[in-house]
Amino acid sequence: MSASLLDGKVIAKEIREEVKAEVAQLKEQGIEAKMAVIMCGDDPASKYYAQSKQKAAANVGIAFDFYDMPGSTEEKVLLDLIEKLNSDDSVHGIMVELPLPKQIDKDKVMEAVLPEKDVDGIHPKNRGYILSNGPGLFPATPQSCIELMLRSGVEIKGKHAVIVGRGETVGKPLVFLLLQHNPTITICHSRTEDLASYVKQADIVIAAVGRPKMITKDMVKEGAVVVDAGINEIEGGYCGDVDFDGVKEVASLISPVPGGVGSLTTALIFKNLLKGIKIQRGL
Ligand code: NDP
Repeated sequence: MSASLLDGKVIAKEIREEVKAEVAQLKEQGIEAKMAVIMCGDDPASKYYAQSKQKAAANVGIAFDFYDMPGSTEEKVLLDLIEKLNSDDSVHGIMVELPLPKQIDKDKVMEAVLPEKDVDGIHPKNRGYILSNGPGLFPATPQSCIELMLRSGVEIKGKHAVIVGRGETVGKPLVFLLLQHNPTITICHSRTEDLASYVKQADIVIAAVGRPKMITKDMVKEGAVVVDAGINEIEGGYCGDVDFDGVKEVASLISPVPGGVGSLTTALIFKNLLKGIKIQRGL
């Protein structure tokens, strides 16, 4: 068997079109969707992500304010800026790029952003809403794993999904978001004994670890759906947590890295912005 692709680029385009249409509709109602992105310091990866979001925002008609602050920024200055943006009704989403300089307490910053403007879905209130399926904003990467499957016609209900990784960013929120689609879930982590025996039972494997190519062909059941959230820097580029070339011979569907989960994240942050506008305006 040679697996078909869970093609993140195609699905991202589909979501961007939906966002663009909704942004235009809001404009007709007199609402100009706007997000603010704050960066402190000159981490090249954060700068790249912030700038690519700015470009993507322009393409779908979302206004974008970029606050490029020095690495010496004091915590109070950042918190004051967040406060100002929280109370500015023309700003609907706020995102603070990580990592933050060491003099700034990341947890304080996460709690400072108004939950309904927290397009990253990291505020403790939004994390709580994941458990109760409440009206919150949820992190983009776990949502992306699910959207990739749903929009490719994968039936999740009743299937056995094995999530490898219980990290705060991907694995843990994914458990509860995925559960809303009624699979049976097994969660594996670094202390799991005989990881392969669990992965081998999975109809759906989702890897969110951060170890290059650790899920190999022999670990995967014939016909399984394999979603790879991992991003690992290797010589000459990036790879996922799944050994793509081997696993594609046994899987029915597989997401590549790059071109899979990561391709959807910006579009899903914009979806969060639009959901946030509805919550803020009671629409
Ligand atoms: P964390 O580092 O927070 O968590 C990693 C998880 O992997 C932990 O639960 C850890 O177990 C588990 N783990 C480590 N080694 C093994 C092993 N040998 N076998 C089984 N499990 C293991 O990761 P994040 O949640 O932050 O991110 C996960 C991956 O997703 C990373 O590769 C990251 O780069 C990527 N990512 C991708 C994004 C995208 O846009 N596509 C965005 C964000 C992240 P334990 O809990 O026991 O320590």
